[in-house]
Amino acid sequence: MTIAEQEIKKFENSNCAENAVFYQAMEEVIYSIAPLLESDKKYTEHAILERLIVPDRVIKFKVTWLDDSNKIQVNTGYRVQYNNALGPYKGGLRFHPTVNEGVLKFLGFEQILKNSLTGLPIGGAKGGSDFDPKGKSDFEVMKFCTAFMTELHKYIGPRMDVPAGDIGVGSREIGYLFGTYKKVTSKYEGVLTGKPFFFGGSLMRPEATGYGVVYFTQSMLEIEGKESLEGKVCAVSGAGNVAIHAIEKLLQIGALPVTCSDSKGTIYDSRGIDIELLKDIKLNRRASLREYIEVHTEASYTPVEEYPEGGHAVWERECYAAFPCATQNELTETDAQNLINNGCVSVTEGANMPSTPQATELLQKNGVCFGPAKAANAGGVAVSEFEMSQNASMSRWAFEKVDVKLQDTMQKICKRVALTAKDYGVEGNYVDGANIAGFKKVADAMIAEGL
Ligand code: NDP
Repeated sequence: MTIAEQEIKKFENSNCAENAVFYQAMEEVIYSIAPLLESDKKYTEHAILERLIVPDRVIKFKVTWLDDSNKIQVNTGYRVQYNNALGPYKGGLRFHPTVNEGVLKFLGFEQILKNSLTGLPIGGAKGGSDFDPKGKSDFEVMKFCTAFMTELHKYIGPRMDVPAGDIGVGSREIGYLFGTYKKVTSKYEGVLTGKPFFFGGSLMRPEATGYGVVYFTQSMLEIEGKESLEGKVCAVSGAGNVAIHAIEKLLQIGALPVTCSDSKGTIYDSRGIDIELLKDIKLNRRASLREYIEVHTEASYTPVEEYPEGGHAVWERECYAAFPCATQNELTETDAQNLINNGCVSVTEGANMPSTPQATELLQKNGVCFGPAKAANAGGVAVSEFEMSQNASMSRWAFEKVDVKLQDTMQKICKRVALTAKDYGVEGNYVDGANIAGFKKVADAMIAEGL
């Protein structure tokens, strides 16, 4: 049995339905870092994997709130404080009906390695609730956020744990959460990132993840000797924060993003996505993407019910570069095969773990450049850390300064990942490069800090 198999065996009891995505993420990391574990026994001697895979603590709490018809509603809230070897716990909050402990453990575990890759002093965490903001009034969202933070504030702080947004948590929710934190603690401090600019947010935080994904792809294509994105057709999935800003940056650099999708359907517009219309539909009005074709009648809309088995309408389009930016496991093996058949040269993950393990393997085997989420979407958390720095020093950085720092961070992450892969004999494998580089830094800190 290899070291990786021995390590995975230790966690087989945790492979239940609720933990499926967590187990998937953990298995990928352990197989990936096998060359490091084989070459340096100190990581197994110090039981680093056992210590890293079990979160420092999982906080679970009840959230009760009154809806608009004065009915009592009950949800579950969580904060998984995973690892703080490199800095305060840091990671987003997700509000979505699919949220459970397993999903947050998967996201928190990935976050440790992602935050490590940024080179910034931040640990890993994730949190959220099974609350669904969809269809709720602004007032209901506010009341939920108030109830959620009334519990969560006991466990967070600017030097302890600094949450941010994720699916279902944007600047509106962060604003309500921050307002409650302030009220219950009487402290005006940088305890959350992703705040609106006029009360402590960083310029470019909303754009950072999506822009960063494109910056990462530019570096990866350059390192791999491929043609740049300029003038190339791109396929993007999702229509939220990450997807919208990836599309915006692609348009800015002269690429042609032709798709976007939400949970109900996919838009294809061969002339390029109309970014202002997309922002109006999804950010301003929180409406369905179907409205896009009411304005652009020559574009097409494919409702989710029409997707072929195991496939996804976005990935059936011809493209040079693909950007899955919606949710986990949205790009399957069938989708990967479609992309390969259509000549796709690179896939960069904007969402967390959007590609299934089978899809990733197939893409890599077929020579498609593959930028894994924990490296490629780290721009968001990097700018969150810039927001923490600005809050701590009571300063404000210009948009251009943040943009330059973001580009620099993404290029450094990409180069480091590529070099690590080469050093460990897996040149061109950015999944292994990211896992080894991210893991090594956290593991070395854990050893240096003792038990
Ligand atoms: P948002 O809530 O802003 O947007 C998510 C988008 O994905 C929505 O448009 C949603 O549709 C769509 N979507 C959800 N499920 C599906 C599905 N099954 N098929 C197609 N579309 C779907 O979230 P974010 O953009 O913030 O996050 C997207 C991903 O990026 C997540 O994996 C998140 O963890 C990751 N990420 C986010 C960061 C950030 O800074 N925000 C940082 C790093 C990673 P609908 O509008 O119908 O709900």
